[in-house]
Amino acid sequence: MFVRHVPWHVPGRYLALRRGGFSTWHFGRLPRKEDHVLMGAVSYDPAISSIWEKMKDYLNSAGCPFDFVLFTNYERQVAALLAGEIDLAWNGPVAHVLAQQHAGPGGVISLGMRDVDCDFISLCVARKDANVASVGEVTGKIVATGASDSPQAHLVPLFWLDELGVKPAEVRAFDMDLGKHGDTAVGEVSALEALLEGQAQVGLLSKMMWMRGLQGQLPSIDAKQLEETLEVIPESPPLFDHCQFDVLASNPAWKRESFCDALFKMDIRNPKHEEVMRLEGIQDSWMPPRQEGYAVVQKAFASFQPKRHYSTVARTHRPGRPGMSTATAMSRGGGLGLGGSRHVSSSRVGVVGGGVAGLQVIRSLRAKGFEVKAFEQDAKIGGVWRENYVNFGVQVPKQLYEFPDFPSKLPWGQYPTGQETQHYVEDYAEHFKLLDSVETNTKVLSVKPQEDGWVFTTSKDGTAKEESFDYCVIATGLYSKTKQFLPKLPSQELFQGQALHSTDFQDPAMAEGKRVVVVGNGKSAVDCAVEAFNAKASHVTMVSRRPHWPTPRKIANVIPFQYIFLSRLGQALVTGHRGALPGAPKHMSYWHQLGWPLMAGAFTVVEMLFALQFRNMSGSTSPLFKCDVVSDFYGAAQVLDYSFRDLVSAGKVDWKIGNPEAYSKHGLLVNGQELPADLIVYGTGFEKDYSVLSEDVRSKLGIEADGLYLYRHTLPPRVPRLAFVGSEVATISNISSYGLQSAWLGKVWSNQVELPSTEKMEKEIQEMKCWKRSWMPNTAARASLVLLHQTHFHDILLKDMGIQHLRKMPNVLAEVFMPYQPQDYNGIVAE
Ligand SMILES: Cc1cc2nc3c(=O)[nH]c(=O)nc-3n(C[C@H](O)[C@H](O)[C@H](O)COP(=O)(O)OP(=O)(O)OC[C@H]3O[C@@H](n4cnc5c(N)ncnc54)[C@H](O)[C@@H]3O)c2cc1C
Repeated sequence: MFVRHVPWHVPGRYLALRRGGFSTWHFGRLPRKEDHVLMGAVSYDPAISSIWEKMKDYLNSAGCPFDFVLFTNYERQVAALLAGEIDLAWNGPVAHVLAQQHAGPGGVISLGMRDVDCDFISLCVARKDANVASVGEVTGKIVATGASDSPQAHLVPLFWLDELGVKPAEVRAFDMDLGKHGDTAVGEVSALEALLEGQAQVGLLSKMMWMRGLQGQLPSIDAKQLEETLEVIPESPPLFDHCQFDVLASNPAWKRESFCDALFKMDIRNPKHEEVMRLEGIQDSWMPPRQEGYAVVQKAFASFQPKRHYSTVARTHRPGRPGMSTATAMSRGGGLGLGGSRHVSSSRVGVVGGGVAGLQVIRSLRAKGFEVKAFEQDAKIGGVWRENYVNFGVQVPKQLYEFPDFPSKLPWGQYPTGQETQHYVEDYAEHFKLLDSVETNTKVLSVKPQEDGWVFTTSKDGTAKEESFDYCVIATGLYSKTKQFLPKLPSQELFQGQALHSTDFQDPAMAEGKRVVVVGNGKSAVDCAVEAFNAKASHVTMVSRRPHWPTPRKIANVIPFQYIFLSRLGQALVTGHRGALPGAPKHMSYWHQLGWPLMAGAFTVVEMLFALQFRNMSGSTSPLFKCDVVSDFYGAAQVLDYSFRDLVSAGKVDWKIGNPEAYSKHGLLVNGQELPADLIVYGTGFEKDYSVLSEDVRSKLGIEADGLYLYRHTLPPRVPRLAFVGSEVATISNISSYGLQSAWLGKVWSNQVELPSTEKMEKEIQEMKCWKRSWMPNTAARASLVLLHQTHFHDILLKDMGIQHLRKMPNVLAEVFMPYQPQDYNGIVAE
């Protein structure tokens, strides 16, 4: 009724009266591509249109400006996706594979799927009178299938039969509704009818249609007759995954983000969401994407593709096509058939460590066909996130600390706690079934080279064991808890209080009522000082050798730091000041040569701003004019909120600059003065531990005082079949860097990326070493530091892999100004 009172020619006012959220429709105005997310779906049933109308209403109300178009067949939909005519395609499995094939490696990113589409099951059924007790006996029989573009009722099961060496006398494909890739399932129903009529002895179809037949839900099929006439052969084709939301990697990141954000907010327990979720067939929830489930579809499609032609009659399929192996059985999760790999290997890889690096190594290498076994000394995976100091957490917002293809369900912008991160890491491992490849409670004691491989000596429950592997990956992390760095000070025996490392400050009660001295000035020291105060310590002092630059979460309290640290603009600013990461484009080096005075000046302004934000403009604790903010970040990187600042300004925490010299009976001597202490917490970091590697390997690695320099921070050129993932590289978003490193390693070891000669790799390492030593502070971790040069490091790995590194193009503005985050690398880890 109210619309009548609103002038029709003012669409904005009309829209303002609609329910909350966006509308992609404005009366009389043509929609602009850059304003909304346009999805394609195939219209295989009249209900599709009404389901997506409802989804559209929901997505718009949840903040995603969404609209959709319907296609009559998947090929047209994929063509529209590739041409950029639609942003998003709701692709069936064959369409998903087709899009990936045409877009090239890393060209397509998957955003999510329905829970019911994971592990889709096909069946092989036979007439009881045909005496087919096992799949081997299908040889010589007439096989009825669904449409020849149906993954569930033709492509995957026939590929499986072929792989097993089964040779039917004839295959009758019921080519109904071609182009819908089996979604209508009418071909499957026709195959069942043919079986009941005795025109074929064996049928291939989805378990879903078989169950519907038995439950009497298929009008042309008599359920009783079905049960009496047919039986399921016990062996079944490999499982695979069904539909995916696919976008091109070049599609603007904001579109994916707003779609995923809204999609994954749907909750089936919410009555407003339930109806459409049920209509869409969802059981519990939308799922993050996964690639492993499409490997078999890809293979089946690749093998059958040359024979594809669409006809409207049942056609005869001749088995035994050239190029297909008949020896190998397909199995999910095993050595073959994972991740769309072109490489098939039966090589074994041993991994030391089950943190976020080790887990991504498992995923990438399994996707390349390697058999992977990771050893984790603790009872659980997760590494640093398992346990740490009181109230520890991630320094960056959740969207910067995600596995690239497994969005965290935490709200956008939230800084996850350690426990939340641990749960998320466990969910990831469970989702991708990585735990099958991890042996927990098993410490690797030593890793020794042998001819063409490695011998791992492990210890579990006090029993030592030896196991051989072809390759070895060290993923023991940057921070080895076994090598906590505690300064050795004289007279410790006099001290009557407790002295411990920050990682052991896990219980706030340890600090309650105590005089606490925290030593250090990194993130962990600052956090421990704040937590000691929160735990009602009677007095808290933080002692730092020198002041360092903290980075505020928001620059000038307005711009989230990642817009400067992780955008291409920010990368150019840092590069202008401190030089280009070796391997970055040449023009970056020229820009540095020309632009550094300007950038050095600009960063002095940034320093003043930071000092102002942290109310630390002068005095011994102020870093202003004492050290450069960029290089200091490479000495003590820390992104802080204002908790510590506020406690210091309010006089609730003392902060002193000085050198701890010795213990006294009741405290710590700093600059000749006693600081009384009942508890001393050392936030002084860690030492690297290479003790698992044998002496001769360590000497070949050439570990130096400032760390271990490697090719691409991953490979030692003189030690074949050994790699380091995570443990020798530190970035801002380590989790995504380790994902890319793992993907890169998978491609190198499966010969999809060719390495330069040993001499060339060593030359590049030398160049990196000289560059780092020319300006980064001299710390034990210097070799591993990439930090603010992260984007260029990622570019180099992507270029090596032949993957488009400008992930946000063609949106030039986003490419320049928007921060790079893990989801920009979606689809690469297990590619
Ligand atoms: C408080 C805190 C905040 C952080 N914030 C951020 C952040 O904001 N952004 C960011 O990118 N990074 C952050 N990090 C860095 C973090 O360490 C990495 O992001 C990442 O989790 C490291 O993963 P990893 O697998 O390389 O190493 P780890 O998590 O250290 O895992 C290594 C695993 O190897 C196991 N292991 C070691 N030796 C052996 C052996 N001999 N045998 C068997 N197992 C062994 C260990 O038990 C451990 O589980 C933070 C770290 C901490 C502690």
